Amino acid sequence: MQTYIRLTERDNVAVVTQDTPRGTEMAGVTLLQDIPQAHKFALTDIPKDGEIIRYGVTLGYALDAIPEGAWINEHMLRLPAPASLDNMPWGTHIRRDLPEAPVRTFMGYRNPDGGYAGTRNILGIQTTVQCVQGVLDVAVERIRRELLPRYPNVDDVVPINHAYGCGVAINAPEAVIPIRALQNLCRHPNFGGQLMVVSLGCEKLTVDKLVGPENNRSENVIVLQDCRGFEAMMNAILSMAEAKLKILNERRREELPLTDLLIGMQCGGSDAFSGVSANPSAGYAADMLVQAGATVLFSEVTEVRDGVHLIAERCVSADVRDKLAEEMRWYDHYLAEGEVDRSANPTPGNKKGGLSNIVEKAMGSIAKSGTSPIVEVLSPAERPTKHGMIYAATPASDIVCGPCQLASGIGLQVFMTGRGTPYGLAAAPVIKVCSRNEMKDQWPDLIDVSAGPVVTGEKTIAEVGTELFHKIINVASGLEQPFSEKYRLHNFLCIFNPAPIT
Ligand code: CA
Repeated sequence: MQTYIRLTERDNVAVVTQDTPRGTEMAGVTLLQDIPQAHKFALTDIPKDGEIIRYGVTLGYALDAIPEGAWINEHMLRLPAPASLDNMPWGTHIRRDLPEAPVRTFMGYRNPDGGYAGTRNILGIQTTVQCVQGVLDVAVERIRRELLPRYPNVDDVVPINHAYGCGVAINAPEAVIPIRALQNLCRHPNFGGQLMVVSLGCEKLTVDKLVGPENNRSENVIVLQDCRGFEAMMNAILSMAEAKLKILNERRREELPLTDLLIGMQCGGSDAFSGVSANPSAGYAADMLVQAGATVLFSEVTEVRDGVHLIAERCVSADVRDKLAEEMRWYDHYLAEGEVDRSANPTPGNKKGGLSNIVEKAMGSIAKSGTSPIVEVLSPAERPTKHGMIYAATPASDIVCGPCQLASGIGLQVFMTGRGTPYGLAAAPVIKVCSRNEMKDQWPDLIDVSAGPVVTGEKTIAEVGTELFHKIINVASGLEQPFSEKYRLHNFLCIFNPAPIT
């Protein structure tokens, strides 16, 4: 079994695949300390201020001299300056020989607007404002119990509850982000073009603003302040839901080209194996999907920032490169306003999992984007206009990235984890991929695909990537339910709002 992993010839550190005791000989050195699983040890003597290199890039500079065989943890290195965003070379790494996709179609729901296909058939109920959630939740429980069983072709009813809508500076420049997110969530491909809105009546995010005046009609919109009491609210919501369910119940899956599939990728609870096993396997699956014409989003600005030059090299035009730089600059500024920078990203769990800093985390994180050309860059919650690999700028926070990608229209999300999280979305299935065997052993009924065998050398990235590709197609086609969907593990939709709250 593989006992350590060194990623490139340039690397002067390697990562142990298991907890490894002091005195063990590996990679031509003797370990000076016990090294926890996924943590790094020095392959050579590293002088004070010397570079610590993994993935062939400088993770940081040694605060003190580090002897060969010593454990390198997050307290031992200084963060390098972030890569410059000015005049990044673009298009110097355009790869066209992507791995051949084993299938080129899936079974999805075609949509009336002709956009990306649905992977599920869901009655989505939009809200303009948080104030209506209590009433809507009671109604949704009744819809599920009393109505849904009569419409067997509809998978679920999902309220789009959120914390936006009122008490916010709705005309602030950055309010475009939460407003766009909610507008685009209404048009999610899994909702089959059916619009159902529950509003309060006095909120700042008006129905007109949310869905457009042309859609503000009595067959689409219920205003609670216009209802005479609670029972009338229930009746109005249930009767509109029934009308929409009747239409949705006629939807059928059909064989569609993968060009109609849009998926998202993100990671959470990462460890030092995430960038070795889970994310590169996801990247391999992404390459296959792109090869077959599908569209794949990757996100998480602070986890791309330190690898941005590698993404720029894959951009197909100067315009795409410029939008990438613009999104990074916006986020640098957003963090600076809060008197922090990208180094605020890693969590205690990331560090326990061997990730020393944000550079190391970013180098692992971007591996999920595979190697295909970057055809478009999106601002948070924008919808894609191109097919292929797309960078959709979002925060890295799992529960913020998820809704942003949903607003962009993803039919499913692939979620890589090292430490484990039961995360899930109600409006689209989430496939969980873990980075190490121990995680799969601990959560056998929460992790859908294990990339752990890549760490131990039992499987290749291509093998796990191909397995994940088939899982994506099966889940998108409704042939399989990932665990988070089966158990209905649904996180709150935290809509990204960088604008002030009043
Ligand atoms: Ca994340």
